[in-house]
Amino acid sequence: MDISLTHRLSYKQARLTVLVAFILGTLLSLIQVGLDYASEDASIDREIQSLLEISHNPAARISYNIDAELAQELVLGLLRSPAVMRAEIIDNSGLVLASVDRPPVQSRYRVFSDFMFGERRQFEDPLFVSHAPEESLGILRLEVDTYAFGSHFLRRALLTMLTGFARSLMLSLILLVLFYAMLTKPLVGVIRALSDRDPRRDFSPVPCPPGHERDEVGTLVAVTNQQLANTHQEISQRREAEDRLTQYLSELENIVSARTAELKATNARLTHSNQELEHARSTALEMAQARAAFLANMSHEIRTPLNGLLGMLALSLDGPLGSEQRQQLSIAHDSGKVLVDLLNDILDLSKFEAGQLELERIPFDLGSLVEETASLLSQNTAPQVELTCLIDPRLPALVLGDPTRVRQIVSNLLSNALKFTRFGRVDLRVSPTPGGVQIQVSDTGIGIPEEAQARIFQPFIQAGAGITRQFGGTGLGLALTRRLCEAMDGQLELSSQEGFGSQFSATLPLPTHAPASRLPPLPGRIAAICQAGSGLAELLDNWLPNWGLDYQRLDEGTPPQDQQLDLLICANPEHLLQLRQRFSRPMLLVSAYGTFIASEQAANLVPFEQLARPLSRTALHQTLQRLLTPHLTTSTEPADKPAPRTHQARVLLVEDNQVNQMVAKGMLTKLGCEVAVTAHGGEAIAYLEKHTVELVLMDCNMPVMDGYEATRRIRQREQWADLPIIALTANALPDERERCQAAGMNDYLAKPFRREDLAALLDNWLPLTTVR
Ligand code: ADP
Repeated sequence: MDISLTHRLSYKQARLTVLVAFILGTLLSLIQVGLDYASEDASIDREIQSLLEISHNPAARISYNIDAELAQELVLGLLRSPAVMRAEIIDNSGLVLASVDRPPVQSRYRVFSDFMFGERRQFEDPLFVSHAPEESLGILRLEVDTYAFGSHFLRRALLTMLTGFARSLMLSLILLVLFYAMLTKPLVGVIRALSDRDPRRDFSPVPCPPGHERDEVGTLVAVTNQQLANTHQEISQRREAEDRLTQYLSELENIVSARTAELKATNARLTHSNQELEHARSTALEMAQARAAFLANMSHEIRTPLNGLLGMLALSLDGPLGSEQRQQLSIAHDSGKVLVDLLNDILDLSKFEAGQLELERIPFDLGSLVEETASLLSQNTAPQVELTCLIDPRLPALVLGDPTRVRQIVSNLLSNALKFTRFGRVDLRVSPTPGGVQIQVSDTGIGIPEEAQARIFQPFIQAGAGITRQFGGTGLGLALTRRLCEAMDGQLELSSQEGFGSQFSATLPLPTHAPASRLPPLPGRIAAICQAGSGLAELLDNWLPNWGLDYQRLDEGTPPQDQQLDLLICANPEHLLQLRQRFSRPMLLVSAYGTFIASEQAANLVPFEQLARPLSRTALHQTLQRLLTPHLTTSTEPADKPAPRTHQARVLLVEDNQVNQMVAKGMLTKLGCEVAVTAHGGEAIAYLEKHTVELVLMDCNMPVMDGYEATRRIRQREQWADLPIIALTANALPDERERCQAAGMNDYLAKPFRREDLAALLDNWLPLTTVR
């Protein structure tokens, strides 16, 4: 690295030093010159004075003697002094005795001398003799040219200045060299050594210039070496870290690419298995749908002959028969009904699997539905079993949901409880819950072993091997019930102990449509003779105070006080008969159907009524009302026994199957109807054109013209716009009802149907005037 001279440190230092030395030298020289000037200036006067002193005596004598010749010699002698320009001796009268002069020395430097010392100086020495100093003899006058002294002074001053400058110059040169040698050279060496080093590549310490180990240069080199070592160490650490990082990165890249490859392979496998799954799913769905369709068709095919079978059996059972024949036909009829139930269960299950089950959402009275179902199934109750419906008084009057499916749940659970219970109680409790309702069926039957409790909810599975043999059944009921509960977003729970009974709880989110309603309050004091732990005791406890009645339960041995009571309820017919002899107030017997008191005997017990278990709230309320306030009750007919209703209507039956024709016609005739039969839609329209009918029962699948087409054509004619047309169909698929409605039919009756179903339909669609 080259540094130009003017930028070198030694030069800068030398320049500064020389400048200072030069200024100082000049100042000192000037002072010296000044002092020299002062002494020169004084020496002029001093020398001339001494010259005058020397000449004083001769000049005094010459004036005293008035010797012009000697005077001339003296002034000439004085003129020999180089500084004297003019010399004169003047006597006391003013006469010039002698005078000499010469011209001033000419020089170009004289101007400086004249400036400093003046051009000339004049000196006068009064002449006298020593013994008469007060007597003036004349004057010795000298005129001095100052240049004689000034030129000396100028020469010396010049010399002083010049030597001063020369000293400064010499000094600066020496300093330059010294500074260069002492500072610049070692620094340049260090700089050169530094610029040759690259701390990134290698590190060797910069050598210290010899002789500078302990001075600033040495310290600078040591510090620089330290910094270089640190930098080198840092760089090598950083490089090491970078190397490690690079290594990690490449390892990471390897791992990532390995994982990516693995993921790709897994993805490919997943996609493949997904495709397989999708394929399997669609195959399963197709199969389920095919099975559902097959089952629906099959059930249609089975239902039609079954309808005929059951219908004909029912008709035969209505006619005069021998007791053995009646029993045989009853068994055949019951077996047919079991077959229908089985068919319905299988169909429901396949609907679930094909995702075809549709739920209704309509308001219905859950309490009454439960009571009706319990009443229908009560005939299956074993003689020593007490079946009770315990409806919570807070239960809403109407809830929203699918009544048919809720009935199915209740009836499945209850029929199981009744089937597996031989002694004790079967209770059907219904209570409101925060989100809906809870239906609980508990029994004191055989119970379910713990290990079987999970299994029994699977289709065709029963708790034990001997169950079918002993109790019958197919193992479908609970599977269906649980799925129904889940389809309603509810749940079915079981708790059971083998040998002690079971409890099934269905929690269903059925929202309230109308809040709980209260039956009108009743007056009076009532006592009931029943066991403390019986269902009847619990039911009466629940309801009687709720209707405003003063109620108390009595044990069997406790005699009721005639005058204190308005009514006595009794659960035991024999006990009631005994009591009647002592007790004259109204009495109510609540017992199973089989234990009713015969009507001839009952007539003697008046005021007396009997009600069958399970008690329904309305039946109990109405009966109590009749017994407690006979004067207010108009009807004497028991409320739960409606008069049989028949219809005097003309009904057109459109049905191609002869067996079905006979069954339906038989039922209709029994219900009081006049029946005309046609075999297909075309015949039906022709018949309608000539005759008037009040209702049409229309089979859907018929040759020539099916029921849908026939209905559409009928509806096109204005005079038949309001004619009730009821579909008869064995097709159990869920869209069948909509299809019938779309064709213009008013209602729907699935085959095989019971006489009660048909009667209910006629009640619904025939005008009241036709009721007899
Ligand atoms: P099924 O009653 O037609 O056999 P379910 O699915 O209704 O079919 O019941 C399955 C099985 O669960 C029954 O066979 C019986 O073993 C058991 N089970 C159901 N309910 C009860 C009950 N209340 N008490 C004892 N066992 C029961």
